[in-house]
Amino acid sequence: MTLAPDLVAAFAACVAPGQALSAPEDQAPYLSEWRDRWTGRAALVLRPGSTDEVAAIVRLAAAHRVGLIPQGGNTGLVGGQIPDGSGGQIVVSLRRLNRVRHRDAAGLALTVEAGVTLLEAQAAAGELGLLFPLSLAAEGTATIGGNISTNAGGTAVLAYGNTRDLVLGLEAVLPSGEVWNGLKSLRKDNTGYDLKNLFIGAEGTLGIVTAATLKLFPAPRSRITIFAATPSPRHALEALGVIRDAAPGLVTSFELMPRFGLDIVLRHIPGTRHPLSSPSPWALLIEIAAQTRQGFREAAEAALAEAVAKGALSDAAIAESEAQAAAFWRLREAMSEAQKFEGGSIKHDVAVPVAAVPAFLEEALAEAECLVPGCRPVPFGHLGDGNIHFNITQPDGADTGVFLGRRADMNAAVFAVVARHRGSISAEHGIGIDKRALLPTVKSPVELGLMRAIKTALDPAGIMNPGKLL
Ligand SMILES: Cc1cc2nc3c(=O)[nH]c(=O)nc-3n(C[C@H](O)[C@H](O)[C@H](O)COP(=O)(O)OP(=O)(O)OC[C@H]3O[C@@H](n4cnc5c(N)ncnc54)[C@H](O)[C@@H]3O)c2cc1C
Repeated sequence: MTLAPDLVAAFAACVAPGQALSAPEDQAPYLSEWRDRWTGRAALVLRPGSTDEVAAIVRLAAAHRVGLIPQGGNTGLVGGQIPDGSGGQIVVSLRRLNRVRHRDAAGLALTVEAGVTLLEAQAAAGELGLLFPLSLAAEGTATIGGNISTNAGGTAVLAYGNTRDLVLGLEAVLPSGEVWNGLKSLRKDNTGYDLKNLFIGAEGTLGIVTAATLKLFPAPRSRITIFAATPSPRHALEALGVIRDAAPGLVTSFELMPRFGLDIVLRHIPGTRHPLSSPSPWALLIEIAAQTRQGFREAAEAALAEAVAKGALSDAAIAESEAQAAAFWRLREAMSEAQKFEGGSIKHDVAVPVAAVPAFLEEALAEAECLVPGCRPVPFGHLGDGNIHFNITQPDGADTGVFLGRRADMNAAVFAVVARHRGSISAEHGIGIDKRALLPTVKSPVELGLMRAIKTALDPAGIMNPGKLL
């Protein structure tokens, strides 16, 4: 249903001149996501420059029951930031809310607006000599508002937690148009329900996040990046235990990569090379950080030697420079990209208890091969968090359309293994449009009832990101 012209004009008047986009070519970058899996239409794309402007938009939408689609960097992987095809929804891009509002080095806190990119937030923390540890491959584009709304994970969850663990306070515009200012930097506040947690991971369905107070940490003085070979995921888990016990400081990343995944990165991504002399069935990218420099490297080497002596690792290389560490990370971060060169892929972002990862992999790999003989799995990811990106690439030379036609069967087979291990069908990326139909299959009636009750209490008119999540 399209909107009446005078209502469209009233929405446009909520933002500064030039910030209400109606021409198709101006709207286009906001209407589809980078892989073109979802494309929509919008009556307008609004680019507010302040919380007050966001509130004006929401008040008008509430009065006329118009669906609003909050959008940050548009890097989300489940379609939550894309409008439907009706042309009657409005995209609210938060990217112009891009100011750092407050720096508090002594209190280890940083208050930023929702459209500040993750990279900019990290840099602002760095200018204080501190660390904002959230880190993911899309950090140059993804925004803090998007990170919060998806409860993003990334590569340092093992040491610092998900986004939920990194937020001290929030400011949000509620579906009524009221502004809730919860920008506190308190470490302790037991005064009832923790309201900020309602908005974290809500995928824009309960309100629009406009600013956040983030938790900072002392920046590690030393960091070691290791590329290691391991015979199997079971051995990899053993190595995690050994290194966590023996290493100085914190193990901040512990990433698993299969041999086929590395092979295709080396084949397709220019400038990559294998850090070890011979390939192994599985590889690990390990990062250890510490506050001390003295004896750090020696202690880390001793931990690796112990893991090798126990057979948990078969070989390991320590990056000798920042450039080499970046090259190690490039191998891990290009794994998804490299799959594109090999045809179609069916992807899953799943989590199981950490100890169950080896059994999950054995069972899910067997299911995938049984369903599509010759398929080429690329299961990689955050082993230390029990989060595996269980991606399956089509058999060599197979018809891509026919392979992708098996998506539903492959999803069902993989999710059945996830369920056996009491895992999650969405570890990091959320539900969005992609997994909405699956939600009732993984949530109990009690859980779904609670979620619907919260949604109805906050957004009775259903204007906030309709059609997503629930
Ligand atoms: C190459 C690549 C690597 C990635 N790696 C990871 C990873 O390691 N870990 C991980 O967790 N994710 C990862 N992602 C997914 C994505 O980057 C994250 O979900 C990110 O947090 C989304 O931020 P964004 O600003 O792009 O949000 P968008 O894509 O714009 O929006 C995502 C969702 O949040 C909502 N939203 C956005 N801003 C607001 C706001 N201000 N208020 C209310 N709702 C809002 C949208 O409606 C939508 O539902 C990756 C994506 C890519 C492309």
